[in-house]
Amino acid sequence: MVKKIALLGATGSIGGSCFKVVAEQRDHLSISLAAAHSNYSKLCPLALEFGIPTLVFTGIDDTSLQASIRREFPTLRIYFGKDSLLSLLLNEDYKIALNAIGGSNGIEATFAVLSRGKDLALANKESLVMGGHLVKKLQGNAKILPVDSEHSAIFQALGKHPLSEVEKLIITASGGAFRRTPLSDFPAITPQMALKHPNWDMGAKVTLDSATMFNKALEVMEAHWLFDLPYERIDAIIHPQSIIHSMVQYVDGSILAQMSVPDMSLPILYALSFPERWNSEIVQTELYRLPELSFEPIAKERYPLFHLGLEVARQGGILPTVMNAAVEAAMKLFLEQKIRFTDIPSLVYRTLSQTMQITDPDLKTILYTNETSYQLTLGYVSH
Ligand code: NDP
Ligand code: MG
Repeated sequence: MVKKIALLGATGSIGGSCFKVVAEQRDHLSISLAAAHSNYSKLCPLALEFGIPTLVFTGIDDTSLQASIRREFPTLRIYFGKDSLLSLLLNEDYKIALNAIGGSNGIEATFAVLSRGKDLALANKESLVMGGHLVKKLQGNAKILPVDSEHSAIFQALGKHPLSEVEKLIITASGGAFRRTPLSDFPAITPQMALKHPNWDMGAKVTLDSATMFNKALEVMEAHWLFDLPYERIDAIIHPQSIIHSMVQYVDGSILAQMSVPDMSLPILYALSFPERWNSEIVQTELYRLPELSFEPIAKERYPLFHLGLEVARQGGILPTVMNAAVEAAMKLFLEQKIRFTDIPSLVYRTLSQTMQITDPDLKTILYTNETSYQLTLGYVSH
């Protein structure tokens, strides 16, 4: 039977890889609903090509633009606004939602999907970083299938082994764009330099988070919630080639790894095919063409946001939300060239130090704090 997908964040980098997978797997997959923020000129033609009946754009408020989009694409059912997205997720026909909305904007969709008991292929790691404690309560019998490549690797290496047999998870990190850049050159890093990832072609936020390795702190938090392990049993190491996507070390000393050339199509395919594996030609790993694989520790002075992120993870509560929002704001300031790359950590630290801990925040508190922390961080720099 063909599995119907609700594809959220359809115009982004993960969205694009999902279309590639669906194009190859037409016997298995179809898209019944797709959502983006505002990029209708990309999504509407894709909807016609892939036969997607229903679309929603959360970020188009202008009613005359809405009317003209509907006129231009009369065969599509097109909705606008965040509330429409949440209500479609509660009412439309789909088997699994792939949440690839960028950044903190993705959390409410995760909650809508799970509150309806639907399965969730999760790329939006921020959902777990900000609301992992609530997601776990809401999950019930629904499956959360990791799309982040590291977590897909761990999920595959874990198989059906009980956690008591797991010594620790080892999350691999590429080290980002500046692994070899002399520290003295860091103040001169430009947005253009930071937006180039050595191995992966991704959206702006996750690429910048890879350069600072804040992304890896987010992924440690994501792993904590997905696999139910304490932080002491989750390690991260640099593996510059991004061939081993992560590992599980078992109590007997054995380490299981999952490998392929870096391509997000594979974790997307696995999340959508699970518990089966389907034939695919998209990702081909020729072992004799691979570079030598190497590993190194994560240096403190090079990646301060990673280490601060781990501290925040351990403290939990509202602080991961605050830190993520502060990083999103600092990144915006950096991209607008209002601050230097090396100013990012101190801005984030300043926001954190002005925050009162809330230990078990509800969704409303998380959303409110996300917005206020973002604005607080932006406010440090005059516009
Ligand atoms: P992109 O920035 O490339 O795309 C973001 C997508 O989300 C776009 O479709 C955008 O629409 C949409 N969007 C943004 N805000 C909203 C909103 N408020 N409501 C609905 N849709 C919205 O991001 P990526 O594809 O790189 O990443 C998506 C998620 O997946 C992130 O959480 C990221 O951390 C995670 N991830 C990404 C990886 C990658 O390889 N790219 C790897 C692992 C995880 P529009 O185009 O209209 O603005
Ligand atoms: Mg990842």
